[in-house]
Amino acid sequence: MTPDSSLLLRWYDRHRRTLPWRAAPGQQADPYHVWLSEIMLQQTVVQTVIPYYERFLERFPTVDALAEAPQEDVLQLWAGLGYYARARNLHACAQAVHKLGAFPRTIEGLQKLPGIGAYTSRAVAAIAFNIPTVPVDGNVERITARLNAVEDPLPASRPLLAQLASHLNDDPAAQARPSDFAQALFDLGASLCSPRSPSCLTCPWRDCCLANARNMAESLPARQKKKARPTRHAILFRVMDSAGNVLLRSRPPEGLLGGTDELPGTPWSDGKSTPSPDELAKTAFTHYAPLQAHWDKCGEVKHIFSHFTLLIRVYGCTLPEKSNYPIDLIHGRFRPLKEAILSSVMKKCLLVGRKHKPAAD
Ligand code: SF4
Repeated sequence: MTPDSSLLLRWYDRHRRTLPWRAAPGQQADPYHVWLSEIMLQQTVVQTVIPYYERFLERFPTVDALAEAPQEDVLQLWAGLGYYARARNLHACAQAVHKLGAFPRTIEGLQKLPGIGAYTSRAVAAIAFNIPTVPVDGNVERITARLNAVEDPLPASRPLLAQLASHLNDDPAAQARPSDFAQALFDLGASLCSPRSPSCLTCPWRDCCLANARNMAESLPARQKKKARPTRHAILFRVMDSAGNVLLRSRPPEGLLGGTDELPGTPWSDGKSTPSPDELAKTAFTHYAPLQAHWDKCGEVKHIFSHFTLLIRVYGCTLPEKSNYPIDLIHGRFRPLKEAILSSVMKKCLLVGRKHKPAAD
């Protein structure tokens, strides 16, 4: 059964969230604002995204300004949001749109742009161009699984949920307001139909929701049990010069935290394909330290990535004034922090402990 869209839209008109990228009621959204926010919101919660979005818009008020900026500036402003391939794709996409002269106004055209897949193309098409389509993100998957009481676990049930979700906007009320309907679904998923404690009593769709009727909303969508997250280990070196600059090297542009700056040190050992933590400790100071020095232990950092936990031991030293101790460029070069592109995990490594600590920029 297709739920009655007019009930959802009426609820949305009263309870819609005010978000910086959202157009006011009755106004058409700016495709640049919608696209920028959608890229930032991938894997990241709204409250984290808002300050980044505002800083980006202040620095790059148009897609052309973003396209013309050096990539380092984009990465630097992005630093801390994680998933750095998104930032590089964001920049490449802005350049493609700049060349085209405007965002394409079709789902197919949008999908040809870097970093824009099935979900983002539909979100931009619906919200900015009023094209009747249902963007299926985690919120919409959850709502669909509950409305239809789909008990098959994710991720295997994803194609079924996408197919069911594509009919959510079948009725004329949804077809008449594609932009509001897509945003109403997001707001329903972010508020009433929340992952842990859905508020079915006040939901506009409670009468047609099978999960509500069967009292099983909280247990849906079911998920396949995740494998335990493995732990990796690393030893990193925080080397300061007498002017307060830090020795930093760049990570390769592709891959995890690609293009961000890091403290030099050992690889991130998983104890299988790479040395065990004990072996690491034996070789870190002879093979991976940027110089022979008296190293002070600064502290330990734990950072959780989506697929593993990283435990880092940070050691530090400060070089005396006028030191010209040779440090190989593979370990990086001394730079002021304000010029660095720092991921959240590296920020933690720079802040841990009291010794050999760079001043905040
Ligand atoms: S009734 Fe409950 S489970 Fe069903 S859509 Fe509404 S909030 Fe979600």
